Amino acid sequence: MTTQRDDLFTAVIHAGQHPDPLFRGVSVPIYQSSTFAFESAEQGAALFQGKEDGYIYTRIGNPTTKALEDCVSILEKGYGGLATATGMAAITTTHLAFLDRDAHVICTDAVYGPSRTVVENEFSRFGVRADFIDTSDIEKVKNSLRPNTRMLFVETPANPTIVLTDIRACAALAKERGILLVVDNTFSSPVLQNPLELGADIVIHSLTKFLNGHSDVVGGMIVAKEERHFKRLRKVLTLMGGTMDPHQAWLVLRGVKTLALRVEKSQDNAMKLARFLESHPGVSWVNYPGLESHPQHALAKEQMKGFGSMLCFGLRGGFEAGRKMINAVKLCTLAVSLGGVESLIQHPASMTHAGVSEQERKAAGISQELIRLSVGCEGTEDIREDLDQALRLAKME
Ligand SMILES: *Cc1c(COP(=O)(O)O)cnc(C)c1O
Repeated sequence: MTTQRDDLFTAVIHAGQHPDPLFRGVSVPIYQSSTFAFESAEQGAALFQGKEDGYIYTRIGNPTTKALEDCVSILEKGYGGLATATGMAAITTTHLAFLDRDAHVICTDAVYGPSRTVVENEFSRFGVRADFIDTSDIEKVKNSLRPNTRMLFVETPANPTIVLTDIRACAALAKERGILLVVDNTFSSPVLQNPLELGADIVIHSLTKFLNGHSDVVGGMIVAKEERHFKRLRKVLTLMGGTMDPHQAWLVLRGVKTLALRVEKSQDNAMKLARFLESHPGVSWVNYPGLESHPQHALAKEQMKGFGSMLCFGLRGGFEAGRKMINAVKLCTLAVSLGGVESLIQHPASMTHAGVSEQERKAAGISQELIRLSVGCEGTEDIREDLDQALRLAKME
């Protein structure tokens, strides 16, 4: 299951990217220009009327950013991609494009913290209502549907619980009801999961994570399956202004080239570390889709092309032991974010999900003891030894 499709190794390097037409530079140039000169008054007018293709102004479109949009759209098998300043800008642009006043949304309860907060605290000001539910239970999704439900927003694997939602089942339901299925695919990257192929309408990425992969850029991407959704999203994005800067796009393009290699190494590490943690006497449970003990191991095999490199676990000594452990790691870095070449460890209840109330966290399965690990590309033995020494210290004191 760790073997990726061979063509993806090619696509991450070449998709959407062409040598620079002026000097034949192999790397896509950074078109660091806010505006583009028209050949004539007539051409400028034609560009504005949409009668001719070309660039006008970077908020509306930029060649470097376009190369990244085409690359990720090809990887996700979409109609088109739209790069955004951050992952949150991708999410809010999608909401602004498709949620009218008083619309209802059904959303995975264990989502990225701010994805929940922005709906509860901000979109609620426009009458948008949301039910945050365990979308891994399709009956619960069905029972939450209302006449004004417009969107099903799913994150799978979910953050930070690593619970899976059946994308095909959600797509069937969304289609039957004529509502949009939006999937946040950040945790898998397009290398391991392609929601549009499974029936989703829109895919969201925080490029900050696996796609860029080097913990040095923030960015987001929206990929639409259909032209009409793409056009609507583009209209809203260029008006609201959450577009991506060309230099940022170039950095992400640079990162994407090694995406398949990074995913291969980090998920190989994750599988071995998940087994190590599962057999460790100080660990009470591990959630990783590649383990036979994961309740949705079969679904993971069906809808994912690999199990990824995100896992979470709890210690027998509860959060107190966990606190000691995350303070004792030396190679792993105590930091939020994920999907970079370096292994990152964090405590969601006090960090990424601190903005979600304790009651809501409990309902979403984000226990006080849960520790999230984003496995990087370091040597397997080095990470294992680091976790081992930290676990020993956590127990000793
Ligand atoms: C990080 C993240 C986001 C938000 O992305 P930013 O780039 O930080 O704005 C959204 N969804 C998931 C699953 C994430 O991990």
